[in-house]
Amino acid sequence: MQLTGTHINYYFICSRKLWLFTNGIHMEHTSDLVSEGKLIHETTYPQRSEKYEEVQIGGIKVDFYDTRNKVIHEIKKSDKIEAAHEWQLKYYIYVFEKAGIKGVSGILEYPKLRKKEEILLSDIDREQILEIEKEIEEITGSETCPDVINSKICKRCSYYDFCYADED
Ligand code: SF4
Repeated sequence: MQLTGTHINYYFICSRKLWLFTNGIHMEHTSDLVSEGKLIHETTYPQRSEKYEEVQIGGIKVDFYDTRNKVIHEIKKSDKIEAAHEWQLKYYIYVFEKAGIKGVSGILEYPKLRKKEEILLSDIDREQILEIEKEIEEITGSETCPDVINSKICKRCSYYDFCYADED
């Protein structure tokens, strides 16, 4: 299976979400949050063509790559810095490296928070990504969908109705 940034992101959020997404059940297009995220992308970097390039390598697509400085910019609509965001960006750097593009770093940008965070890939991260890839294969290859997690994050998840349809 060719992994994408979304797989890595969902791995850190919820195994069930990862499984549903990988097994072809997609709800994101119905989510207002996704539209909001797209709007932030469009309004934050209206002049991308001048400074950034869109880069696709294997399963990943990076919207804002600063070729000159070798920096991947990832913009998040969230009002919270999350491990899922950090690892998604680390994974992008990892895939760039595997493609022979060395010395790449990342910047996570949170326009709502007016914050930026630099992301670097360490040797420990590289080892952990190998483990994460294995675990994603195990979760997504399972014949059974993982249980709901009953977490407060569920209310903001695009699969909420799908997961909790039988509840009052
Ligand atoms: S609603 Fe909750 S349990 Fe269902 S996929 Fe989303 S995060 Fe996972």
